[in-house]
Amino acid sequence: MKIFKFGGASVNSAEAIRNVAHILSQYRNEKLVVVISAMGKTTNLLEKIIPGVPASEEERNALIAQCKAYHLGIAEELFGTLEGDTVAKIDQLFHQLETNARKKGDNYNYDYDQVVSFGELISTTLISGYLNHIGISNVWVDVREMIRTNENYREGIVDFSQTKELTAQMITQKQETVSLVITQGFIAGTDKGTTTTLGREGSDYSASILSYCLDAESMTIWKDVPGFLNADPKYFKNTVKINKIPFNEAIELAYYGASVIHPKTVKPIQNKGIQLHIKSFIDPQAEGSVIGPFKSIVPLTPLYIFKNNQILISIQPKDFSFIAEENLHTIFAVLAELNIRVNLMQNSALSFSLCIDYNEILLREIKEKLEDNFRLVYNTGLQLITIRYYNQQIIDETVAGRNILLQQRSRNTTQLLVEA
Ligand code: ASP
Ligand code: MG
Repeated sequence: MKIFKFGGASVNSAEAIRNVAHILSQYRNEKLVVVISAMGKTTNLLEKIIPGVPASEEERNALIAQCKAYHLGIAEELFGTLEGDTVAKIDQLFHQLETNARKKGDNYNYDYDQVVSFGELISTTLISGYLNHIGISNVWVDVREMIRTNENYREGIVDFSQTKELTAQMITQKQETVSLVITQGFIAGTDKGTTTTLGREGSDYSASILSYCLDAESMTIWKDVPGFLNADPKYFKNTVKINKIPFNEAIELAYYGASVIHPKTVKPIQNKGIQLHIKSFIDPQAEGSVIGPFKSIVPLTPLYIFKNNQILISIQPKDFSFIAEENLHTIFAVLAELNIRVNLMQNSALSFSLCIDYNEILLREIKEKLEDNFRLVYNTGLQLITIRYYNQQIIDETVAGRNILLQQRSRNTTQLLVEA
């Protein structure tokens, strides 16, 4: 059995979905589980209509209408009509989405999952329906009935033993009749039947969980780049494709924010020695990259990771005490409670600095929870640059004279927080 994952960019238009169909048609007689993300930038849009997120009634309505028009436009192009079962199902999903988006917000993380999960439910419903329509028989499976998490909304923690049992059962049963299964990335379910998500860009992780649970022979992530590049082509002209990546290197890169792969993705497949292929959906015959049991990256070359929209928060105790264990304990308890991932941190005697992804609501909550005892100072609009296998010349070229607010170095890796 093989596991494929198609991300948002690979299904962002009718033409893109036809291309996915073409790729899948090459694997007709194989047992395949295909994990699909929300279409295009749908998740970003849905994040703006979560209850509690500041938006006027008109803005909310306009965003929902925009999202619906986008999906129905693609459906109409693919089916040639807006009649039929698939569009009826999509209408139904939008109806539920609207209900959830219009609730009064009281728990951001919970509300988040009950809204953004619709991106994947809608995309897979549309694509599965289209594939059946053109004769690529497949069965749609609700991944929330396979991947079990706890109630840690927005970043559910997977219960692997339950998930393995549920997944094996479900997939074996479905594949008795149809070899192609279409399911959602990013989302999961709890024992109580509520929806959770696995963290932004979590669809890779979903595919990896399913690969692990099904003892897959391989996993493939289909992307709009030829493989694992040494930098995001958005920032770099002369990228180099890395052909082979050791499992541990991939974990490090993901940890630092390499957008090509989600941080938790590698561990499950590494544990089972399942190789992960990264291939181009634009040029499916090309070789791509593979993450596997290798000694070092091939070819050995500097690797760059850029994270935009960072905020640097400096936290100082109000009572002029030092930043000691007691204070750090308080700060970390708040970060853990809010599920905030720290991208870089540093402490001095009188202040503790941390760099996180900018998020208005979470920032407000940090402030509320800490401001009794601490003074908080921010810098916004920053870029975090991570370079592996660096040297000083490479650092200078990359920073290009910008102001460096924070820098850390280890033997192989340097991280620089700079003004954008
Ligand atoms: N749709 C989700 C996101 O954009 C998950 C994913 O694409 O991997 O974060
Ligand atoms: Mg995505």
